[in-house]
Parts: sequence; C-alpha cells; structure tokens
Amino acid sequence: MIIIHDADHVFVDAQTESTGTTLTVTDVVQGIGDRAHTQAAASGAPLDAEVVHLDATGCVVTPGLVNAHHHLLQSAFRTLPGTRGVPMHVWLPTMAAEYARIGIDPELARASALVGVAEGLLSGVTTVADHHLTWPSGADTVGIARATADAARELGGRLALVRGSARDDPEEAAASADAIADALVPDAPHGITADGLFQLAVGPAGVHSDSEATFRLLGEVASRRGLRRRTQANEQVDVAIALEKYGRRPIALLEEWGWLADDVTLAHLCAVTDDEIAQLAAHGVTATHAPGCDLPMGWGIAPVAALREAGIPVGLGTSGGGSNDAGHLLADARLAMQVAPLVGPPIDARGILSMATSGSAIGLGRPELGHLRPGAAADLCVWDVSGVADAGVADPVAGLLWASPGRRPRHVVVAGRVVVRDYELVAHDQRSLAADLTRLLAARRAAR
Ligand SMILES: [Zn+2]
Repeated sequence: MIIIHDADHVFVDAQTESTGTTLTVTDVVQGIGDRAHTQAAASGAPLDAEVVHLDATGCVVTPGLVNAHHHLLQSAFRTLPGTRGVPMHVWLPTMAAEYARIGIDPELARASALVGVAEGLLSGVTTVADHHLTWPSGADTVGIARATADAARELGGRLALVRGSARDDPEEAAASADAIADALVPDAPHGITADGLFQLAVGPAGVHSDSEATFRLLGEVASRRGLRRRTQANEQVDVAIALEKYGRRPIALLEEWGWLADDVTLAHLCAVTDDEIAQLAAHGVTATHAPGCDLPMGWGIAPVAALREAGIPVGLGTSGGGSNDAGHLLADARLAMQVAPLVGPPIDARGILSMATSGSAIGLGRPELGHLRPGAAADLCVWDVSGVADAGVADPVAGLLWASPGRRPRHVVVAGRVVVRDYELVAHDQRSLAADLTRLLAARRAAR
C-alpha cells in the first residue's frame, strides 16, 4: 500500500479536484481522504513494512499521463542528419536507410524501448502506446515485440504495443501480429494481460504506405482477437499520396476499408474538413493529437476543439524521436494549449490535461486509466510546485502546464508501485540505459 500525504491539490479527473488531500492506493486507488483524517488513521496503524509513505507537501497530484502515440524505436534515431526541416518524401527514405544500416532486431528494440519508456516515466508518462512500424521482412518479429514488452515491464511502465506496418507484405504482417498475440497475450481478452501492464493492438502506418489488403488483414486479426486498431491519417503527405494514388482523401479510404469504427484511433488528423469531422464522429472513431510532431514536420495543427466539439474523444501523443526528439508528454500538452487558438477556440489547461490522461485512455479502451477516482488503476504523478518557477501561480492545475516548461514529476506510481522516486527511476539507473544505447549504436555504426 502507498499513502501519499498532504498533497496541496489533486486533479482527480476533468470534473473533480480536491485540496489538502491524502491518497491511499494499492494496485488501485483506494480512497482520497482529507489530510487530517488519513493522518490520524496512519498514526494509529501499526508500522507496516508494506506501507510506503510519499510526502506530497507542496505538490499537485495528477493521474499518470497516457502517451497515446509514440514510436519508441525512433528514440535511437533522434536529430538524425537529413531528417529535420525536410519534406516527408525525403524524411521517410532517410530514416529507412538508417534503420537498415543499424539493423532492427530484438537487441536494438530493447535498448530503444528502455530509453523511451524510462524517459516517459521520468516525465510522468505511465502508459505509452508504441506504434512500432519497422519490422524488417524475415526478422524475428516476436523477439522484437517481446524485447519491447520486457523493457517496459522491467521499468514498471504500462505499454500498449501496436504491431504496425509500413509497406510490409500484408500476409506477413498479419501472420506476425497473430504470432505476437500467441506469444505475449494468449487468451487475454482485448489483448490486455491480466495485470493490465501490457496491451497489444494493430495498425498500419497509414493509407500513404499500406494497401487495402494490409488494413483488411490486420483488421481481421484485431476482430478475431478483440484488439484495438490504430493508424495515422491526414499528415500532409498522407492526403497528397491518397489523392494521387486513389483519387480519394484518407478518411474516405479508411471508411471504405472498414477502418472507421469505435475501436479505431487516428493519430495526427491535420487539415480534416468539417464533413470529415462529422464522419469520424458518426463512426465513433477516437483521435490522438500530436503537435510535437505535426508542427516541426510542417503538417499543420489538428482542429482539436472542433473534434472535441463533435464528440470525438481526443488523446495526446508525442510521436517518435524521428520527428519529435522528446517523449515528454506534458511539454507537448503545453504546446497543444499554446497552439490551439491558431485553429479554433482556446482549450484550457484542464481540457488539455484531460486529453493527456483520460482522452488517451479512452482511445486505448482503458477506462481504468487516466483518472484517480476510487477503483482506478493506481497510476499517478506527484509534481512539486513549490519552486520559484511556480511561485505566484494562482491556479495550480493551470500552472502545471503554463509554468515551468519541461517539468518532471518528483514521484511516479504505476499499478500501485513506485517507479520514480525523487526524480530517479527505481528499477534502473537512467544514465546506464542511455550509455547502453549509445554503445550499441556506436558498435553497429562501426561494423557497417
Ligand atoms: Zn506518428
């Protein structure tokens, strides 16, 4: 059991907040009580080695952040020369050439995932959806998936691994998705392990890269096994290629290919029309906003307020190190808030924070994540707001996003286990994870 004492403020969910609070959690949130009441209960209780006490004086507590769109493998390919400030038709082959040069296998998947998940946890991301798009033909795809899953589990983070595809052979992609499911989530309802720490989903990179056959075959795997489906739509190049290749826009193709449904989450969604927004809403599709990728890539800004207004649940993602060199979701929440007025009405801090928590969780089909109501999975962050960067802040929840850019949580709890304590990982030394990846990349570059 963990008792979190004396929080100044708790963001329970978009409708509920509490001040002067103590939280009790096991693997789920047991209760939120007032400070005096729980202190009395704690002092009367016998000393129990199983009880962990976290001091939250001067802190705001939020649900753990849910990064709904990442490409963990790209953590090994940040600021790659030739990939910044270039159009997508240059970016794609440059990244692909470097993947081929380094070699994508379980060892690299593990080192990248350790770094990416660790970076996420250290910045408050308790669940990450890893849309893994690079599965070289003939590679040990089960090994790559297992290495990624094991890395997240070692660090104590939650992972939703998306068996993606980027021009993969359709039959091969579907067979691999089935093999990964057999290996990692045999008989698991909805592809989620009993402890909730691992989830499998499927999803091609988008209509610009994958054929109708890939969408249909991966869709069949999903429906047979109850997996969620995720893809990317309406990056600039996606629209341009769809028009050139099929004479249709991506959303129309996705509808035709059976990929507009309430188990589907679409990332990016820049430059969607009003009619397309209505179409997405009618099909119950969920969305992921990824401004930290869309802006530097020059794709534009998704009309998030309009999507939300239409009733579409919108989550938040960072996308990967190939476009956004940080997996810091709170930083991108700040960016999302700052750019929102350029494409519609402003969205306030609570609205953006709910996207980064419950909005993302809805798209993953995980109602137990993204909030701190009693019974929620015990994933939470304790943010110290007592420093000078937060001095003078009148509204602590607004301040979480507006003030102190790049802030990191003091403590992070996942499934009732402390995974970050006093700004450091509990399970690994972050510097040795970084050094391991650096060493591996250097060895492979030297050998090739
Ligand atoms: Zn992406």
